[in-house]
Amino acid sequence: MSTAVRIDPATGRKIFNTRAAKSTDKIAGKGYSIVADERLKTLPPPPPGAVFNAEEQRKYREYKEVRQGAADYMRLEGEFAKYLEDVYSEPPVAREALTDECEILVIGAGFGALLLWYRLRDAGFTDVRFCEKGGDVGGTWYWNRYPGIACDVESYSYLPLLEEMGHIPAMKFASGFEILEYCQTMAERFGFYDRCLFHTTVEKTDWDEASGRWIINTDRGDAMRARYVVLANGILTTPKLARIKGMETFKGEAFHTSRWNYHVDLKDKRVGIIGTGATAVQVVPEIAKVVKELYVFQRTSSSIDVRDQRATTPEEYETWPNEPNWAVQRRERLATISAGRTALQGNDDFLAGKVQDYRERRQHNRKLTPEEMIQRQLESNFRIMEQIRARVDAIVKDPKTAAALKPYYPYGCKRPTFHDEYLPTFNLPHVHLVDTAPIGVKEINERGVVHDGVEYPLDVLIYATGFEWMGTGSFNMIRGRDGRTLKEKWESEGTKTFLGMHSSGFPNLFIMNGPQGGGGQFNFTRVSEMHASYVVWAIQTIKDRGARSIDVTREAEEEYAQHCAEMDLLSAPLRDCVSYYNGDGNAKPGSLAYYGGGQRWHERRMAAQQSMAPYVLETAPRSPVPAKAAE
Ligand code: NDP
Repeated sequence: MSTAVRIDPATGRKIFNTRAAKSTDKIAGKGYSIVADERLKTLPPPPPGAVFNAEEQRKYREYKEVRQGAADYMRLEGEFAKYLEDVYSEPPVAREALTDECEILVIGAGFGALLLWYRLRDAGFTDVRFCEKGGDVGGTWYWNRYPGIACDVESYSYLPLLEEMGHIPAMKFASGFEILEYCQTMAERFGFYDRCLFHTTVEKTDWDEASGRWIINTDRGDAMRARYVVLANGILTTPKLARIKGMETFKGEAFHTSRWNYHVDLKDKRVGIIGTGATAVQVVPEIAKVVKELYVFQRTSSSIDVRDQRATTPEEYETWPNEPNWAVQRRERLATISAGRTALQGNDDFLAGKVQDYRERRQHNRKLTPEEMIQRQLESNFRIMEQIRARVDAIVKDPKTAAALKPYYPYGCKRPTFHDEYLPTFNLPHVHLVDTAPIGVKEINERGVVHDGVEYPLDVLIYATGFEWMGTGSFNMIRGRDGRTLKEKWESEGTKTFLGMHSSGFPNLFIMNGPQGGGGQFNFTRVSEMHASYVVWAIQTIKDRGARSIDVTREAEEEYAQHCAEMDLLSAPLRDCVSYYNGDGNAKPGSLAYYGGGQRWHERRMAAQQSMAPYVLETAPRSPVPAKAAE
């Protein structure tokens, strides 16, 4: 047996030592700096008379319509597979293939998996194993290490287990590098490393009816068995590239933001970046500080809200821990306001529990219908967007650049972004916004990007073109009871889950943070908390009832899918633009994120747990055992 796998003499269980070493010390950095200039941190008031009237609605509609069909992405396969290589770690630690059994196998080692491990351990489950594609923990924060990376949800509510770790982040918005270190400290403190197989990609997960086990095959030759499998592999895991004619001919350096190549020195280089989503908004101000020329190829502008980064104050360090479960409480309070605009200026006192309510006095004296609520939201949403647009005019000097940087869609329809240095960057003489609206970059040659007949010669080309969102894109091939994979099932029937956690025909399989999975709003840590507690409940319930498996009824998931579609359609006017949230306009209603809100999901969960009606608990194999599984 290699040193990577040894037996714990106390328990007889395997202990792993597969964490990869860092490949270089160059891969380090910091997130947002503190901006002192108040002018850059202020959202101007909405222009007088800002009303979402027919003219403004037409503008939104046209902005959307000209972009429809422009999104064209591809996976990083074939010659582009090299962009997926793990640039952060030394090669995988050698180990033998495993063919043994564990009770719970979790795919992923990000926030979801770390939280789940903590909760499982707390509930007395110790025979737990994790498989992770990367060389270390962190998930998103392992892969995304671009310059300027930081969380967008305030770190006091975003970082999990702060009380348990006795930690308070130093800045309101922690850098991604700090978050990665925090994950590593959590993993060390909670014994996670002993249980995780790094650089191990699960390729296939097959249900074996006869034994009531999942068989998990990996790219390291493993064929492990587990009673339960949990998918905790994230929602924006699989990077995608814009499909652009000639991209394979580019002779300079190129990479995707989620595999930032720090061996490429950007100093004094001509650099191009394609995409202006949340990633690029953080990258652009940082790399503008070192490059010779920067070309930002934009198809659609992001809404750039105020960031207002700040350090944690001595008073906060001292007083917050006096409140029992201070971070959980804070996260709960954040959840009550994060459904709308999330740049919570002025709400620190509410979040810290110092004032009881952040809400403005209600403007109506009767209960509004859901449709009326949406209409109200659209109107206030428009005013916020007017402020966002006014901010562009107030900061960006060149009127043509300012005009291109103004987004025309509802706030939150695309991922809102927050930055106080992004807009001023476009005033620098060496930074050029190339407006490629509405169709985007369509041609690359060996020297650089070509747009509208103009060639932009580049030394380095950075793809900030995002990730597959929800769906089965990040799942391995999971084959359930009737021999179909989860992907095949959802492709033929539409996405069908119960609470986003189970899919009928896939017993003892739990999905964390997947499609239709509610429990929180903007803050995915809260969703992970909810899902981790649900998984613990489900496994505990199976044990308590002496069952071998848990599944859900077809009726329960049909009804739930219908509910997800209704919730999606109800709030769809707030997402009326081309966005990955709605599959660039192509997703079936209810098939991606859950739009019913955290509370509604929670109530459904509680009702299910109480009645147990949606669940099928079995004590023996189904008979006849399907031929395939019995082989
Ligand atoms: P996105 O999917 O948000 O952005 C992709 C960008 O590529 C869009 O601007 C898109 O334009 C553009 N694009 C695609 N094809 C072309 C083309 N041919 N020509 C020009 N532009 C093109 O990806 P990100 O990586 O920015 O962000 C993904 C998500 O990751 C975020 O939304 C957020 O949820 C998360 N994230 C979180 C952060 C945080 O918390 N700090 C930071 C960064 C990311 P178009 O809009 O027109 O489609």
